[in-house]
Amino acid sequence: GFQANLDRAAPLLKQLKADGIGHLIGGEIVAASSGEVFETASPIDNSVLAQVARGTAADIDRAAKAAKAAFPAWRDMAPAKRRKLLHTIADAIEARADDIAVLECIDTGQAHRFMAKAAIRAAENFRFFADKCAEARDGLNTPSDEHWNVSTRVPIGPVGVITPWNTPFMLSTWKIAPALAAGCTVVHKPAEWSPVTADMLARICKDAGLPDGVLNTVHGFGEEAGKALTEHPAIKAIAFVGETATGAAIMAQGAPTLKRVHFELGGKNPVIVFGDADLDRALDAVVFMIYSLNGERCTSSSRLLVQSSIADSFIEKLAARVRALKVGHPLDPATEVGPLIHQRHLDKVCSYVDVARKDGATIAVGGAPFDGPGGGHYVQPTLVTNARSDMQVAQDEVFGPFLTVIPFKDEAEAIQIANDVRYGLTGYVWTADMGRALRVADALEAGMIWLNSENVRHLPTPFGGMKQSGIGRDGGDYSFDFYMETKHVSLAR
Ligand code: NAD
Repeated sequence: GFQANLDRAAPLLKQLKADGIGHLIGGEIVAASSGEVFETASPIDNSVLAQVARGTAADIDRAAKAAKAAFPAWRDMAPAKRRKLLHTIADAIEARADDIAVLECIDTGQAHRFMAKAAIRAAENFRFFADKCAEARDGLNTPSDEHWNVSTRVPIGPVGVITPWNTPFMLSTWKIAPALAAGCTVVHKPAEWSPVTADMLARICKDAGLPDGVLNTVHGFGEEAGKALTEHPAIKAIAFVGETATGAAIMAQGAPTLKRVHFELGGKNPVIVFGDADLDRALDAVVFMIYSLNGERCTSSSRLLVQSSIADSFIEKLAARVRALKVGHPLDPATEVGPLIHQRHLDKVCSYVDVARKDGATIAVGGAPFDGPGGGHYVQPTLVTNARSDMQVAQDEVFGPFLTVIPFKDEAEAIQIANDVRYGLTGYVWTADMGRALRVADALEAGMIWLNSENVRHLPTPFGGMKQSGIGRDGGDYSFDFYMETKHVSLAR
């Protein structure tokens, strides 16, 4: 319950405040070389949670050198041994899953009911890729008349991982686990608004016996520590999750050192509901996919495309559901929507209310800050109706509990509107007509499509976006394609 979560958090917060958050470099928890710190605060009440080491280019350089020094031994470690170490980390994450969940809720504002399982999923990420260590180097033998032709894969080298604040712990493991399984060493630069659980991950890996320098964590700001990481010559590739504009900046920053990049960026994902769909299930999914996790999720369906024939009744039921959402303290299990990560982000989300009104859309529900417990960055869950595809609220990623509804007449118009954005991460289609479901899936410009389903992650499947939503795929063997080089060896017969 609520009180149990508060009780669990109290000693952890005390410890966090006393310890502060340092970098992990070469197996040591250290202060910034400049001695500078920044504060991380809770979006619930703006209370300061910890002083955090403020990384600069000097810290990144130390970390990159540690990752480079640790690389040969890690690359050459027997896969069975590497597998065992990654399983040890998974077990340690699982053992601390409840601690991770409460701290992440306090640091990010995400509701506990959705975060409770996030650390378990993080442990699963480590287990899944641990079990793939042995096959990471697999290749092909394609003999010709005169040669044996063997291809194999080798880890690319030390890599940089740069992550956002929305579900920081789970997302970090989604990048770090496959990199380590591939035999790469890592420098991780977590988001400056949510450093708390990245620090826990660093400590868990260190305590689990991960060799020094294999995972390094450098905290700090994007334009400072993040930029230095993308420019460092010892770092061979950058795996980045965050905003599209940041991805573009990273590409430019990494160009002089020819960085390989993997980008998971923003989205403006459509959920398309046809009149023949199972409308009760569709309604549940529509509500879940934008109002869970504060709508701060890349795969959220932030545009509802609903067939005109059923639009009025569907929107009426939807509005009632949105009005009934419980905004509150993130550690209260009853809470569905918690405070947004930061005042700046709250301001951004709220600014879209004015933009929508000015463009002629209707704010059907919500649309204002909410006076929640602790007085933090709460917002009313918001529903925008009477929107057209060319309006800014139908084009921009708002990244909050904010849904824009656009009606459509027929299949062709649904597809046209769905594809009429610069993003292409996910799409969701609800219809009883399987032929139509597959036709629409084929026509949608998005990397991942769910038919008659909300987003359910299955680790072997490819995860990633088209258009301005990303470059590259994660999951299963796709992750190894990024963290490894393919090498060809030819031997005369
Ligand atoms: P952001 O781009 O502002 O920041 C992400 C990270 O990049 C942070 O660690 C930040 O410090 C760092 N950074 C910022 N500027 C940098 C620079 N010039 N060089 C190097 N690093 C830099 O994103 P955010 O606001 O933290 O996260 C929200 C965004 O992330 C949304 O757009 C969301 O859609 C996206 N996201 C995408 C996925 C996906 O899988 N496609 C998943 C989660 C979040």
